[in-house]
Amino acid sequence: MITLDHVTKQFDGKRRVVALDDVSLTIERGEMVSVIGPSGSGKSTLLNLVGALDSPTSGTVRVDGQAFAGLTDDDLARVRRDKVGFIFQFFNLLPTLSCLENVGLPLHLRGWPRRKVDERAQELLGLVQLGHRLHHVPDELSGGERQRVAIARALSVYPPILLADEPTGNLDSQTGSEILSLIRDLHARLGSTVVIVTHDMKVAESCGRTIALRDGKIVEDVRRNPRTTSLPDLLTSSLPHLPTSPDPQIPTSGDLHVPDLLTSSPSRVSSSLPHVATSSPPDFSR
Ligand code: ADP
Ligand code: MG
Repeated sequence: MITLDHVTKQFDGKRRVVALDDVSLTIERGEMVSVIGPSGSGKSTLLNLVGALDSPTSGTVRVDGQAFAGLTDDDLARVRRDKVGFIFQFFNLLPTLSCLENVGLPLHLRGWPRRKVDERAQELLGLVQLGHRLHHVPDELSGGERQRVAIARALSVYPPILLADEPTGNLDSQTGSEILSLIRDLHARLGSTVVIVTHDMKVAESCGRTIALRDGKIVEDVRRNPRTTSLPDLLTSSLPHLPTSPDPQIPTSGDLHVPDLLTSSPSRVSSSLPHVATSSPPDFSR
């Protein structure tokens, strides 16, 4: 469950901007929520606060009862790493890494052994229908393919919360709707909480709930009957083999090595992936 309690976010630049203005909001586990509103209304700010990428000026953000405010930077990084998957409009893939390496990166950062990382990354790329592009780098892919890589990466750790900021904003409508049905499929199968910022009313209305922002305030909060998956949908589903829970077989200690990615070129990783905890040690406890 995600809770915002009287959250205000103010940016003090040349001109003071109140990006979110005393917003209170509860999103239940497993909800699929769309966030709409004009440009500058605070949508990305809301997403960033929920994902612990930024902290509020006042008020409290909680995930599963845990307030972010009391957490150290390391703990926040851990929340992002373990609980949240991000899908951005501009993909944020690392240009020098292959699809396989991009998708495997969050798992490397968790200290998974190389073989397991590659296995899982390959499986996820298969799920987003990119099994034939494992060793391509982002430049060699179309926009839709890149977004699918980004989705596979966001899902690599089976995040309980998936945050998507205009994930189809840079895609043609056909590709956009493919990406959307992928997200919806994953939501249905993994039961992740999904918050998706969109300008597309069709996308917004396909979610069980839509929150409209204007000038940093919630001006509408509509719930509708959740979209039920029909049999034809299931039969033609693009994701037949998605596991329903994280693999419990992952080793919790031993047989781990420092990820090659980190030892070979830390700056490459940290510069273009600012939201991944590159400095945290592998979490051997899981
Ligand atoms: P949206 O995603 O709805 O377009 P944002 O949440 O990005 O809107 O921004 C809301 C308001 O906050 C805008 O007026 C924007 O200019 C301002 N804003 C966002 N991020 C920053 C920042 N880092 N510094 C200063 N102002 C910002
Ligand atoms: Mg935005």
